[in-house]
Amino acid sequence: MKLLLIEDEPAVVSVITRGLSEAGYEVSVAPDGNSGLQMALNNPSFRLIILDVMLPGMNGIEVCRSLRAAKQEVPILMLTALGTTENIVMGLDSGADDYLIKPFKLQELEARIRSLMRRKSPVDIPVPVTAPAVLSLADLELNTDTKTASRQGKSIALTATEYRLLEYLLKNPRKVLSRLEILEQVWGIEFNMNTKVVDVYINYLRKKINKHHPTELIHTVVGLGYMLRENKADEDTH
Ligand code: CA
Repeated sequence: MKLLLIEDEPAVVSVITRGLSEAGYEVSVAPDGNSGLQMALNNPSFRLIILDVMLPGMNGIEVCRSLRAAKQEVPILMLTALGTTENIVMGLDSGADDYLIKPFKLQELEARIRSLMRRKSPVDIPVPVTAPAVLSLADLELNTDTKTASRQGKSIALTATEYRLLEYLLKNPRKVLSRLEILEQVWGIEFNMNTKVVDVYINYLRKKINKHHPTELIHTVVGLGYMLRENKADEDTH
């Protein structure tokens, strides 16, 4: 399986390429953002890109944005030395699927790669041959066959992570779901990290779902987590 590593620090490159080669991956390396972007655009056989944020020339965020703008859907795992929420949010906003904060253990990197491959390989996921499975709550619908969401019949474009999050919420309506439960169900058990990412994605999802609809469906349960449910009649709409 071919992976592209875009990273400028020789020590990190050496550890990652050695480790991943031993694990059976074929790793190509680009030492800066511009050449990495070109390699990714010219070579659709990469199954995953490991992308450092701090790079000479074009930085990782810009590379990621350019790839997504070019409709490259390859999974992107970002490496960041700056563990601030702002950087993480910026990385995820630019279209990255996951991130890892340096320094990390090789095993952790491998676990994230496996997790991303599982999520992003539609061919590996058995497609049900039954009637379309539609999950719904109030005027919100999710078709798990076509992976499309809509509210009052108007379609909502979701990223892969937002889709999984909404699917999990819709499968567990009117139930308090803790951030940890959501993290484990949506990001996987090996996604061993801060639950802040759950809040970030809940907010993304809320914005999309509520765009033309003032009625909130995803409710914050203070101190506990989130709950998907219909609004009560006497409740305000926030
Ligand atoms: Ca770097």
